[in-house]
Amino acid sequence: MAQQVDLAVVGGGVAGLAAALEAVQGQAGRPSPWRVALLEASPQVGGKVLTVWEQGYLLEGGPDSFVTSKPGVLEMARRLGLEAELLPQGSSGSFIWSRGRLHPLPPGLLNLVPTRLLPVVTSRLFSWRGKLRMALDAVIPPRWGEADESLEAFVVRRLGREALERLAEPLVAGIHAGDPATMSVRASFPRFVELEQAYGGLVRAAFVLRRQNRRRRRPRPEGEPGPRRTFFMSFRGGLGQLVQAMADTLPPGTVRVGTRVERVDREADGYRLLLAGGDSLTARGVILATPAAEAARLLRPLDPAAADLVASVPQVSTATITLAFRRDAFPRPLQGSGFLVPAVEGRKIMGATYLSRKWPRPQPEEDVELIRCFVGGVQQPRLVEADDEDLVAAAREELRAMLGVTAPPLFARVFRWPQGMHQYTVGHLERMDRLEAALGRLPRLALAGAPYRGVGLPACIESGLQAARQVLAELDREAGRPLPSPSTADR
Ligand SMILES: Cc1cc2nc3c(=O)[nH]c(=O)nc-3n(C[C@H](O)[C@H](O)[C@H](O)COP(=O)(O)OP(=O)(O)OC[C@H]3O[C@@H](n4cnc5c(N)ncnc54)[C@H](O)[C@@H]3O)c2cc1C
Repeated sequence: MAQQVDLAVVGGGVAGLAAALEAVQGQAGRPSPWRVALLEASPQVGGKVLTVWEQGYLLEGGPDSFVTSKPGVLEMARRLGLEAELLPQGSSGSFIWSRGRLHPLPPGLLNLVPTRLLPVVTSRLFSWRGKLRMALDAVIPPRWGEADESLEAFVVRRLGREALERLAEPLVAGIHAGDPATMSVRASFPRFVELEQAYGGLVRAAFVLRRQNRRRRRPRPEGEPGPRRTFFMSFRGGLGQLVQAMADTLPPGTVRVGTRVERVDREADGYRLLLAGGDSLTARGVILATPAAEAARLLRPLDPAAADLVASVPQVSTATITLAFRRDAFPRPLQGSGFLVPAVEGRKIMGATYLSRKWPRPQPEEDVELIRCFVGGVQQPRLVEADDEDLVAAAREELRAMLGVTAPPLFARVFRWPQGMHQYTVGHLERMDRLEAALGRLPRLALAGAPYRGVGLPACIESGLQAARQVLAELDREAGRPLPSPSTADR
């Protein structure tokens, strides 16, 4: 007989783990009444979060950090008692490879929104023509209305093509590995649209915000800490520490790794999940927390229209290549936390992070630098298919050209993420609204994770929590109880 649970969560990335945690931890200090199963196809939980040790050095195969401006990860760390393990970013400051040299990314360009104008004016990253065109933003009228547009259309309209090619494109490639010509500005950079509508343009917004910040600043009494500047954080034990703690907090037996869900069918009182190997599981509620293509495949027999909307979220492949070098292999000292490479430069890497500078963790030998290069994305998807040796050779060639390092690496490690990055293309938010309406036809079924309303770790965690709350509220309502109480299903 098929095993029964109240809630089956499919996918054990951060979104699925957050959903399962929310479901088992209960509310208002009450123990949860729900039986939960988290089904994960691969041998370990974490999904894209993959922390590994190589010769005693901590490497991140996927994400290496999270933004602190969104609460998802910080609140989860608090919930798990991991606050003391949070690791603020060490060296900061990014560079952009342009016309044969590294240029500092003008400070104040937090998430592409200029909050300080002088560094942009004095930057050698842009030509005078480009700077003058950017300044025209102050007089270009805003575009009103709700219609979405591409990031490229927005940036070129407001700041000109040079700002797109030298700044917006590499920053976007670094976060989404995406193409600004197809990416939705409303879904990926909603702040841009907000600033344009509130202040009439980005340059005007920069003036007003700067003035407001100055007014708010008051002299601090001696000893009082200054404003929190950390923008990115990680954990001492890498991001793997977070997902491990999430999994360890779930009751024994909840997480089932190596368990791929082949199919989900509707039954009278819920859903039947067919597992690889022939077993099945029945669940009253289901959360699909897999990448888009897999969620669409599982949804298709249940609601083809909803499946089409999920399948409309494109995914692109990327790879990271981490190389370890002795510090003295670099002819010039490394500065900042890494650099980005605009597509117009025609190079093989999209950027590089100086991992051991960005995240000051103890390591077996202090004079070793870990450099992590990104390849692939929309610009060069085929590169990800190259074998490890060729990828390492490509990364070395680029680091030789950009940082002058010619020595062979002490070791190198490649991580591939086929179809690993979701792209929010023009019209994404409107399609997500339609998807949510369509899901109303499927009782106690929700979606969570990177394909929908935020690809970053905080947003994915938040989406998992939200999906669990939604399905549990339906279960509660059906059980006729406003507060959680033990399930009537046999246990
Ligand atoms: C190289 C790289 C770097 C990144 N850097 C950052 C960063 O620095 N900061 C940041 O915030 N974000 C970053 N991201 C994005 C972020 O890592 C992801 O968006 C996020 O981890 C996705 O989490 P998720 O739970 O939605 O999905 P995933 O992590 O993709 O997890 C989905 C899980 O579902 C499982 N699964 C799939 N199909 C089935 C099935 N049929 N049955 C059972 N299980 C199934 C998969 O095995 C997987 O474990 C990066 C992504 C990549 C690829």
